[in-house]
Amino acid sequence: MSAKRVFIVGGVAGGASCAARLRRMDESAEIVMFERGPDVSFANCGLPYYLGGVIEQRDDLLVASPERFRTVFNVDVRVRHEVRAIDPGAKTINVADLATGSTSTESYDVLVLAPGAEPVRPPLPGIDSPGVFTLRSLEDTDAILAAITQREARRAVIIGAGYIGLEMAENLVRRQMSVTVLELLPQVMAPMDPEMVTPAQEELRHHGVDLRLQTPASAIEMGPGGDVLTVQTTAGEHLPADLVILAVGVKPEVHLAEQAGLALGTTGGIKVDDQMRTSDPHIFAVGDAVEVRDFVTGQPTLIPLAGPANRQGRVAADVIAGRDARFRGTQGTAVCGMFGLTLAMTGASEKVLRRNDIAYQKSYTHSPDHASYYPGAEQMAIKLLFDPGDGRVLGAQAVGRAGVEKRIDVIAMAIQKGATVFDLEEAELCYAPQYGNAKDPVNMAGFVAGNILRGDIDVVHWDQWQQVQHHPADEQTPLVLDVRPPENVAAAAVPGTMKIPLGKLREHIAELPRDREIWVHCGIGQASYYANRVLRQCGFQRVKNLSGGITSFKMQP
Ligand code: FAD
Repeated sequence: MSAKRVFIVGGVAGGASCAARLRRMDESAEIVMFERGPDVSFANCGLPYYLGGVIEQRDDLLVASPERFRTVFNVDVRVRHEVRAIDPGAKTINVADLATGSTSTESYDVLVLAPGAEPVRPPLPGIDSPGVFTLRSLEDTDAILAAITQREARRAVIIGAGYIGLEMAENLVRRQMSVTVLELLPQVMAPMDPEMVTPAQEELRHHGVDLRLQTPASAIEMGPGGDVLTVQTTAGEHLPADLVILAVGVKPEVHLAEQAGLALGTTGGIKVDDQMRTSDPHIFAVGDAVEVRDFVTGQPTLIPLAGPANRQGRVAADVIAGRDARFRGTQGTAVCGMFGLTLAMTGASEKVLRRNDIAYQKSYTHSPDHASYYPGAEQMAIKLLFDPGDGRVLGAQAVGRAGVEKRIDVIAMAIQKGATVFDLEEAELCYAPQYGNAKDPVNMAGFVAGNILRGDIDVVHWDQWQQVQHHPADEQTPLVLDVRPPENVAAAAVPGTMKIPLGKLREHIAELPRDREIWVHCGIGQASYYANRVLRQCGFQRVKNLSGGITSFKMQP
């Protein structure tokens, strides 16, 4: 029997990973990787940092060259070759050599589509003006750098505040540019819940980024000289810019799949099974182009991230090589940094759970990334979402300056293994003072969630508290009890609350009403938890804790 001929369309994350893995599994296969662009396996995730000058050498973005694929993996790499059509019946593809303009038809046994996702270009007037860029490839990066130099660009407008928009904002500020970010939604980083991104919004503004939420761009106009652009917003503003970066999201590249008659999913991505097989048994698809199953909700979704693309490439390769590999679904584990602040998430957000009508409970904790007695400890906020019945972890988001992604990574694995908040309580994690805490932030999140589920504590959240604050503290509304030490109260008093420091609670307990609901708060929700336990054990049944304390309250959008 002759060796299997495997063609791969797309030579970056999913495609390159598939090619390299397949060679490790099958030495005899003939593997050909077609890539439209001039490079394979380049680091798209590093592009913003090259633009900002953090990555100094362009070559450092080239993770593996075509030559390396040839010599190390015996993969026939054809760059500047675009696959234009597939004939699934004949099992052939039509390929254009972009260097010569010639086309050819070639036969495959197995085809893997890894064409990625293309930037969304909303139909705004002036969107095609010179000076308006999207960022996907090294050529896009070269074009942006050239424009910055030629135009001596000082002002940039970024349309879209997802992670690419935010990373670009940080990197253009690094280049001393004045940056405006326009965002349609009332928050940055749409996959996260709004209260978890307010620190990022503050951080951006603190570093001089003119962040305008709920301010979509409505048109782009070119000035008389052609160099200066004006971005109009729906609010009627006209923002001058030397450079416009369009970062409003991506959509799966499905032209080839559509032309070949492959089934698409409800989200518009290529439909695949858990072995990455499309509706044609000889064609696989991986990466940003495919529709995935959300690991938590079970719903079809699009989650364009490098980790899933690489894993899917491996799964497809294993299946092609005859192994019974399966893709588990995508959790959306993601991290984004700006100006030293880190945002990270895994699993479902609260808005996704609500949208899917999935019951949940939540907790907020604020813990230092390492022992507070060791210099440099930084507090991080963790929001944990969990099943109110069995405590299964459904999602987590965190924001802070150090150790944030490490905690989200731990919780990501917990979600993948179906673990509960009780498992987080038990997680045995690294500890020495400069790295963590004997009670790690992940343990702390588990303890608080466990306390809620065991009924040791009742909680209210910042949004409920916000509503009560707007009413006078009459008998009909809960009594809000502040148990912070006097010096903290003096520094940031909360009006309309009764103030008894935790240490004095037992002596003043008789002053508290037994027939009224009491909401206890402190700075981060820990001292108030202790107070809750005192009150509960002294017979107060209607007592609740403000989860995450004033710190969470202040994060409200
Ligand atoms: P791609 O990596 O996009 O590769 C697809 C390739 O297919 C392209 O090179 C394209 O030219 C080629 N192609 C398409 N059609 C054809 C055709 N017909 N013939 C031949 N070739 C074709 N993800 C993260 O998880 N973390 C990050 O920090 C992160 N940062 C990012 C920053 C930027 C600026 C960008 C653009 C993306 C970032 N991503 C990040 C997303 C991540 O890069 C993608 O999820 C991942 O690259 C998807 O892999 P893929 O193989 O599906 O597609």
